Amino acid sequence: MLPYRTDWIEAAACLDADPELFFPVAAGEAGERQASRAQRICDHCQVRRECLEYAMSNSQMHGIWGGTTPEDRIRARRQRADRRRRARRHEKAGAA
Ligand code: SF4
Repeated sequence: MLPYRTDWIEAAACLDADPELFFPVAAGEAGERQASRAQRICDHCQVRRECLEYAMSNSQMHGIWGGTTPEDRIRARRQRADRRRRARRHEKAGAA
């Protein structure tokens, strides 16, 4: 059994899309164009949030997930970590 829910995949807007759009193999502008096309599909996906959470929870380092690029997810992961650190510091300061 998978540790995360994956039933949302059945409602994915990308089910019939070209997988290469979501995992571009081309470098440079060609790859960026493919990723942009994938993100436009994600814009209309009803399970975008679930998809992104899955990618974040599983540290997906490649491809477009939930409309985000790997770089977007790295930034989001850092922001989440910063928020957690600030919250812990805040809690410690409150407890002192
Ligand atoms: S958000 Fe994008 S990658 Fe995720 S399931 Fe939807 S269409 Fe596919």
